[in-house]
Amino acid sequence: MQNARAQLSGEQRRVVERIRRRYHAGEPLNISAVKRSDPGLLYAAYAVRPFWGWRRALHSAGIRYSNVRVDLQDHVVCRVCGKVFSSLSGHLSKAHGYEAPIAPDYRREFPGAPILSEQLRAHYFGRNHLRGRVPAKRLIGHWEPVWTPEYALDRVAELFRRGCPLNYDHVLANEPGLINVGLKYFGSWDETLARAGLTPDDIRLIAVRQDWTRQRVLRKLRQRKAAGRSLNFQAVKSEDSRLWSAIQRLYGAHDGALRAAGFNPQAQRVAKRRRFTERDRQRLLAAIRRTARTSGAVRERAIRNLRRRFQPEIVCLYRKAWARAARDAGVEPACIRLPRTVRYPTRAAVVAGIRARRRKKQPLNYRAVAVGTAADIALLRHAQAFFRSWDNALRAAGLDPGVIRLKPARQA
Ligand SMILES: [Zn+2]
Repeated sequence: MQNARAQLSGEQRRVVERIRRRYHAGEPLNISAVKRSDPGLLYAAYAVRPFWGWRRALHSAGIRYSNVRVDLQDHVVCRVCGKVFSSLSGHLSKAHGYEAPIAPDYRREFPGAPILSEQLRAHYFGRNHLRGRVPAKRLIGHWEPVWTPEYALDRVAELFRRGCPLNYDHVLANEPGLINVGLKYFGSWDETLARAGLTPDDIRLIAVRQDWTRQRVLRKLRQRKAAGRSLNFQAVKSEDSRLWSAIQRLYGAHDGALRAAGFNPQAQRVAKRRRFTERDRQRLLAAIRRTARTSGAVRERAIRNLRRRFQPEIVCLYRKAWARAARDAGVEPACIRLPRTVRYPTRAAVVAGIRARRRKKQPLNYRAVAVGTAADIALLRHAQAFFRSWDNALRAAGLDPGVIRLKPARQA
């Protein structure tokens, strides 16, 4: 132990000192409590590279997790009106018109916002409370009382230290809770691994080395379908980036893989797929009214969330006209309109846009900028407005249009 401490950096020693002071003062040391009372201390432990985290920091301070004082909040704040409850589910439906299932709607509007107080979450933690309180599957025991993004990272790092395979499939099969938390807070499993200081391609992450074949891609797609998960491009990309990159590599186009697996790509796109009912419409109108009431700093985000969340309903029920939906909700359409932002307002902005694509190694030939996954119509339109042609804009950015046509994504 003495030895391990000697190897700590100056910053780590400062964190360890502050942890000891908290400990001796009898202050709580569970992640959510520290985040409330001394967030800087917690973030300092997670800012250390290579990844350190809270569990290791406590360990370096010579403190056992089992001796740590735990403090959990007994209430949760409603993000719509600011009132306080131990559970929001009754309140959200009674006071704000949310319909069951409440959690997905509420979380889409307020990402990461809890519905239960920490005390209630701790009560259910580690158990499948919806299925008769069977202990939920896990690879190792829990040491924190509730999930937090920081705890998820500590857990990933600890599993890695214990030599546990951390590829998506293995963790999903053995500890689905951790996968869910990773996707919820970090967007993808690869990103979760990266935040815990691991390289997703690290050899040790691969349990049984499986090379991707077309057959495996098709099997995975069918499994997703059977599990009720979405097959559209965005969903596969964010939830299972390995599958997604295998599709890119082996099929080139997402739709091609879907067709090969026997699915109609058109039908997998969210908007075309669902049939909406009157209930869905009422839910949309309620969300519009809620959003229209927001103001100040949360307003723009609320509008963005609303538009993303309900795009399929708007396409289907209102033929893409948000204004009509707003009027149906009894709201002035301007109340749910985003301020217009022009991304390329000047010649310099167009040039900067071209250079940014170059840096990101995105193709710069006319066709790629006009159509497809790397398209940027705004850039093209403003380039033509300011420079009269795309080639002129490329020249203004110091590029040779002739070379671009031959090697669209060549590094400068
Ligand atoms: Zn409320």
